[in-house]
Amino acid sequence: MVSDYQVVVIGAGLGGVASAALLAKNGFKTLLLEQSDTVGGCCSTFENQGYRFDTGATMVMIREPLEAIFRRLGKEMGDFLKLIPCDPIYAVRAFDGTRFAVPADLDQASEMIASIAPEESNGWKEFARAGRELALRLGEIIGTPANSVSEVLRMQLRSPETFRYLLLSLRSAQGLTLRYLRNPVLQSIVAFQSYFAGAPPELGLGPSCFLVLSEHQGVYYPRGGMISVPASILKAAEEFNLEVALERKVERILLEGGRARGVLLEDGTEIIADIVVSNVNAKVTYLKMIGPENLPRWAVKAISSYQLAMAYPMVYLGLDAEPPLEAHHLISTASMERSNQVWNEYYKLGLIPPGDNWMLSWPTESDPSLAPEGHHILSFAWRGPAPYAPLGENWDRLRESLGDGAIRVLEREVMPDIRKHIEVVEVSTPLDFERRLLCPQGAVYGLFFDLFSAAMFRPHPRSRVVRNLYLAGASTCLGGGVPTALASGIIASDYIIRDYG
Ligand SMILES: Cc1cc2nc3c(=O)[nH]c(=O)nc-3n(C[C@H](O)[C@H](O)[C@H](O)COP(=O)(O)OP(=O)(O)OC[C@H]3O[C@@H](n4cnc5c(N)ncnc54)[C@H](O)[C@@H]3O)c2cc1C
Repeated sequence: MVSDYQVVVIGAGLGGVASAALLAKNGFKTLLLEQSDTVGGCCSTFENQGYRFDTGATMVMIREPLEAIFRRLGKEMGDFLKLIPCDPIYAVRAFDGTRFAVPADLDQASEMIASIAPEESNGWKEFARAGRELALRLGEIIGTPANSVSEVLRMQLRSPETFRYLLLSLRSAQGLTLRYLRNPVLQSIVAFQSYFAGAPPELGLGPSCFLVLSEHQGVYYPRGGMISVPASILKAAEEFNLEVALERKVERILLEGGRARGVLLEDGTEIIADIVVSNVNAKVTYLKMIGPENLPRWAVKAISSYQLAMAYPMVYLGLDAEPPLEAHHLISTASMERSNQVWNEYYKLGLIPPGDNWMLSWPTESDPSLAPEGHHILSFAWRGPAPYAPLGENWDRLRESLGDGAIRVLEREVMPDIRKHIEVVEVSTPLDFERRLLCPQGAVYGLFFDLFSAAMFRPHPRSRVVRNLYLAGASTCLGGGVPTALASGIIASDYIIRDYG
């Protein structure tokens, strides 16, 4: 059978876009298929009544993978994408009422911390010393494949100091935080990072506590909204004949003699290809698109054993006035103990958390063009991590009360007269994320991420059971997030170029 394409990529999330663009640049005849009507998946932007809301991700940090993609495409990133620095990085409302804004400059941030927690000054300096180098090198680490024992060893040989970071992964984010910090407010900011990275502090990997330091390398907002990240990569790859087809849902991955041989679309069309890259959640890729009947029993058991990542409801508001905020991002932090408690006593039991850890984004602070002149956007990540099937409830029934509850919180915490300024309210529940993006149970980071489901313990980007099948996205490599998903696309394309180039 003659192939229609050398490579078919399923899904135009960040991992799919990055791998498709790089493969096209390397001369592979590539088709990128996306089931929805736009690109970017969780890192995208949609319009409602003149307001352009970000679907999921609200910022870009650790920009090295993004820069690496443009470099590999032979393009100047600045010609395609404008990243606007967020400074302060965020304003904080801590559980005990403490309020402050964190400047982007780490020295200034350290001074500010010394002013709110003078007794913590030494602990913070030690924390910053211990994590600074890791924070500086996070971009490089994320971009280095660590999907097998030999790759991990190679990484250690090339840069022996990464061994120290590997050892830190044996501790929890909470354990490492407590080693340095006594002040409960500082602990709560650090715990917030772990919590938003998809695990409570007692389960999060140790190095995730140093994410607060890597933010001082820069937190950015892309002009035009988060969709500008994938859209700019595709624009830069235009001249390499990359074909992108929207609203084409893949139903199955075609197999021939144990090899991937193309895809079957929902409308019955078969597209034959030498190589298939799936940017779809690894559980769906293996258990639905390939099917347990085509996999060895151990592989079905292994892939079934992964837990899906948490879901996070979003409330998007379009306002006809400017909100009284100090920074693009505002975070509300619960104490470290409370973050663990919410995970164990709400999320794990199928109850929706009360919502004391939350993040409010104000994208029109950085890019006013996202809303009509003088109007503003707020995106509110509230009441997560949310169970997919809340006990005795249904997300469709809860949608209205979720929106109303969010507005009440904002009335109380941010803008007392917000109700009279709201022009648009839109709510995305875990069910909506699942329906819109086909991400199972609305899992925003693919698969749950802990020591036993990270790097070489995660589904391999070069399938170990189906030849010619590769995986990119949040359920491979180093998990969910904008930089990690982009890096997974680079890594998948590198394997293919090495195997077939
Ligand atoms: C609410 C929320 C907030 C977040 N905040 C941040 C943040 O601030 N910072 C950060 O770094 N990360 C954040 N993230 C996480 C980050 O956005 C994701 O981890 C990352 O974008 C996932 O990329 P991916 O490559 O795995 O693809 P995905 O985004 O999962 O995209 C997969 C694509 O595949 C398509 N697809 C699925 N099935 C099929 C099929 N059968 N046929 C064809 N196409 C298909 C989908 O429509 C989708 O476009 C957030 C995510 C969410 C949802």
